[in-house]
Amino acid sequence: MTFELDQTASNNLLDYFARREVDVLALTRSLVERESPSGDLEGSRAVVELLEREARGITSVSSATRVPVGDYGEHLLVEAFGSGGGGDERTTLLLGHTDTVHPRGSLAERPLREEGGRVYGPGIFDMKSGCAVALEALRACAELKIAPRRPVVLLLTCDEEAGSRSGRALVEREARRAAQVLVLEPPAPGGRAKTARKGTGIFTLRAEGRAAHAGLDFEKGASAVLELARQTLRLNELCDAARGVTVNVGVFAGGTRSNVVAEEATAEIDVRFETMADALRVEESIKSLRPLDERVRLSIEGGINRPPLERTASVAKLYAHARAVASALGFDLGETSVGGASDGNFAAALCPAVLDGLGVEGDGAHASHEHIVRESLARRGALVAGLIATL
Ligand SMILES: [Zn+2]
Repeated sequence: MTFELDQTASNNLLDYFARREVDVLALTRSLVERESPSGDLEGSRAVVELLEREARGITSVSSATRVPVGDYGEHLLVEAFGSGGGGDERTTLLLGHTDTVHPRGSLAERPLREEGGRVYGPGIFDMKSGCAVALEALRACAELKIAPRRPVVLLLTCDEEAGSRSGRALVEREARRAAQVLVLEPPAPGGRAKTARKGTGIFTLRAEGRAAHAGLDFEKGASAVLELARQTLRLNELCDAARGVTVNVGVFAGGTRSNVVAEEATAEIDVRFETMADALRVEESIKSLRPLDERVRLSIEGGINRPPLERTASVAKLYAHARAVASALGFDLGETSVGGASDGNFAAALCPAVLDGLGVEGDGAHASHEHIVRESLARRGALVAGLIATL
């Protein structure tokens, strides 16, 4: 069962965020000024330290725990509204990440700037503004004396952009005890939430043939390049546009010189799928590839990386609720499905109700024109606060 957001509460939230817009933007800027590409220990610490300090200033926050990951970075786990009590009550999990894809030095090349209502900066859209908004939503509920229906956990990982090797276990642990997961990743154009994300698989296919002189002993050679070229055509046949399955050989390498029959070749493969059933089917097909030239040896490594976030009935219901909250706040929240994966995919495997793309509006994630739309800050913040208040 979910509660509705009444008009007084909606207005209070909008007023609150309008008042706090300058502060949320200031925190966002400070986060962007601390560059934190995945694996940059110093940058990660600087960002997490700032967020921890902010979190500790919010009355409803019961704990803010930094989780160091070797010399890689730090995750941050914030518990609020009674989630630290050790009870078995299901939580609302707010999920995000503090790492970016932009290498150190990007900020010097493209400093923060505001132009035509847009604020530009490396990592501002994906997703430092989302981190700032998540904390502000906790503060808004505390200051407006809105008691969220469930304990709230905010988890910000430091390795999402690099495949979540360490963050995955934390995401899964928190998703397991959550009633719903709200992901602060950037929304799709028009501010649309993401109700489905494809899953991903990564494979490496290696061929080992027999080298020979291309002029003197051509027949004695067994070309690894030819073998993988033929396998690439087979892999392409696994694509199924109607089912949203793609198989892309994105890197292809092999051979040593043009006058030598190639002894070795390697292909790196990216697979995307909408359902786990398709994922398993494609994985099985890839793992059972056999050489067309029997003199060549094939080896296959890799597997499914992120499961798909499927638009299940629970996802649809959560989206419908979010849309009603947005409507009470005076805007329409659309939805879409996308090919890219996020930590929402890992969460979806363990918690049926996941809604992604709840961050601040903008464009240019991972690109040089990355920016947020300033006037959307207040309504996106009010939406997140309205969600944790009513779910
Ligand atoms: Zn992201």
